[in-house]
Amino acid sequence: MHPAQAPLLPDLATLDREVTGCRACPRLVAWREEAARVKRRAYLDWDYWARPIPGFGPPDAALLLVGLAPAAHGGNRTGRIFTGDPSGDLLYATLHGLGLANRPTSVVQGDGLELYGVRITDPVRCAPPDNRPTTAERDTCRPWITRELELLRPTVRAVVALGGFAWQAALPALAAAGWELPRPRPAFGHGARATLRAADGGPPLELFGCYHVSPRNTYTGRLTTPMLRELLHTAATAAGLRPGPANSGGSTAG
Ligand code: SF4
Repeated sequence: MHPAQAPLLPDLATLDREVTGCRACPRLVAWREEAARVKRRAYLDWDYWARPIPGFGPPDAALLLVGLAPAAHGGNRTGRIFTGDPSGDLLYATLHGLGLANRPTSVVQGDGLELYGVRITDPVRCAPPDNRPTTAERDTCRPWITRELELLRPTVRAVVALGGFAWQAALPALAAAGWELPRPRPAFGHGARATLRAADGGPPLELFGCYHVSPRNTYTGRLTTPMLRELLHTAATAAGLRPGPANSGGSTAG
């Protein structure tokens, strides 16, 4: 299905299914399939997913985490967002430590992992070369996340943007899905927080900025496990969830 048809989708299960058939970005389609053909040495026996990655988590989530795009040998291999690379290892372990996941690891679709009140998605659903989608690719993909946000509106109360790209991509999608952006537009930073009113007078949404969980940030100490844990704890609490304590089990990532 083409992203232009995303506004017609009636529920998240349908959206999650239909997005996997999207081929709207020729460069990304070629890259995701090339990565699956060439593979990485450690994954030669894998049958790569090589399609767009749907969001993961319950359709009535109160907290939405927004990343960037799947990794060529991570999500593009396993078929689940943030799964099969160090970024996801840290993210899911931290969610589990906060009581927001039933296990600390995410291996592949069908491994039994469940998230509690949390959903994870990407503004670009296909693996881009060098993890860098173009502006045009980001904009082409936007209807998918916009529809996801519309369908989550009855329950979602907080969004965490993992990195500046996610922040910039989330703002117009949130506006299109029915929230009012503050003026001036809030700037990204780790710990940045903004309240977005609902245009229809419904419940507001709390938007948080968090450094991306990429090795580039965690290996350099820019983002540590305690920092991530504390921010996710704050966001989950703002969303009305009851996470475990923010200050236990946190060793420095690296
Ligand atoms: Fe479709 Fe988005 Fe993938 Fe582009 S990045 S092909 S719009 S799913």
